[in-house]
Amino acid sequence: MASYVLNCNLQGNQRNMENMVRAVDPEAVFIEKGQADYRIDLLVSTEEKHLVCQGVIIGNRTGVISFTDQEITDPRYEANAYRQRLKEVVRKAILILLKKVGFAQPPWGILTGVRPSKIYHYFRDLHFEPGEIKQKLETLFLLPPDKAKLLTEVGEVQRPFFNKVGESISIYVGIPFCPTKCHYCSFASYPLTTHAHLVEGFLGALRYEVREIGQTLSRTGLLPVTLYIGGGTPTVLTTVQLKQLLELIDQYIPRRALLEFSVEAGRPDTLDREKLILLRDYGVNRVSVNPQTINPRTLKRIGRKHTVAQWEKAVEMVRAIGFPCLNMDMIIGLPGEGEEDWDQTLQKLLVYGAENITLHTLAPKKAATWDFTQVKAEISAEKVARWLGGSALRLRTEGYYPYYLYRQRRSVAEQENCGYTLPGWEGIYNIIMMEERSTVLGLGGGGMSKWVDPVTTKITRTPNPKCPATYRGRIKELVAEKVKNLLAMVN
Ligand code: SF4
Repeated sequence: MASYVLNCNLQGNQRNMENMVRAVDPEAVFIEKGQADYRIDLLVSTEEKHLVCQGVIIGNRTGVISFTDQEITDPRYEANAYRQRLKEVVRKAILILLKKVGFAQPPWGILTGVRPSKIYHYFRDLHFEPGEIKQKLETLFLLPPDKAKLLTEVGEVQRPFFNKVGESISIYVGIPFCPTKCHYCSFASYPLTTHAHLVEGFLGALRYEVREIGQTLSRTGLLPVTLYIGGGTPTVLTTVQLKQLLELIDQYIPRRALLEFSVEAGRPDTLDREKLILLRDYGVNRVSVNPQTINPRTLKRIGRKHTVAQWEKAVEMVRAIGFPCLNMDMIIGLPGEGEEDWDQTLQKLLVYGAENITLHTLAPKKAATWDFTQVKAEISAEKVARWLGGSALRLRTEGYYPYYLYRQRRSVAEQENCGYTLPGWEGIYNIIMMEERSTVLGLGGGGMSKWVDPVTTKITRTPNPKCPATYRGRIKELVAEKVKNLLAMVN
């Protein structure tokens, strides 16, 4: 664990600098002054629109840099681009300095955020061409060519959906319960084994929220374009509970403009034919059934209390019942897994011909039950990168292409999670969630509402509590706030 002192003449850059150092050295600790393993000093000055950056790193070795950045002299940039470019220049200087003293290049260069595709759309909105942006990603953001290509491809797939969705709203409904808790999970998920007594109270509050929000939508004329029931695992509800919820949604949420209705049925041990028929009959057109891996030992180790046979049966039912779009997630580089595990899981997903396949990598989160210090020692970043690349290649050979991606902070291999699709089956809600260009109403447990101002594009987040009991206790206040915000959207 190395310590760092970071100095820069620009105010308000500490966090920016720390994020960059952490992307290269995840165990880094920062001290304000005194003896550290590494000391970085940066001086950034401006001459007209030319940014001049000089820097030095002192550690086991010493490195010096000096460069001029003229990027914002391009007339397509807006006046406020200057502040953002300063931050990027600081991160670029830090990365170059760290590489000079022997650190490895991180896979995503100086892009340290969780939504790298936003930078692509930023440039596209300024009327830069895809080829120009790809080049900028490599030279200004220091992305390796494969990541720059991936981002360009994803960005171009997404652009038509921005037009299609426009300013229309989307709805997320969170059911924060699962049969058991997977050890790596940091989502809003309470295992039924210990929290079953909270389900009925939670559903009562959710029914109130769906009714009130639905009535407000009808009054305002706001029509959702995507509806996503996630969690947790919504299909953990009994058939009766699920039917009541779907009936209520059907009755109150206007669906005239709906392009997609997705349900997360991630845990195959929660599915049966009756529930799936119910989902189909209420208009669900996309379901996720996720194996994560088909290695039974790993399934047990990660706390997913289902078998491979249960997953296969669930997928066969989904196919037989006739859902148009099936998504499957797999996690690459689970502890203890080798080349053959990754290979067999991917092969199996391809056999079922899921319209969407989402590749995940592990990210240690405080909310997870696992002790990741132990787990991380078993995961090789180099192998994860290789298997991720190998999966992408295999998927492309089978006719899939990437359509959305995101990164998780402190992901074990610093890689991305990426959704692949067969032509025409892009999960629209996933694009909306990641790119944050239109408003999403988050109902239920852990539902995050994101209110996007269409003029300024500013996003205001208002979260529902994850805890079912707290959600129930605050339901009137949560609904009142949403109703107020919805009315403000049309006034
Ligand atoms: S199924 Fe998903 S939401 Fe539920 S515990 Fe596992 S990872 Fe978390």
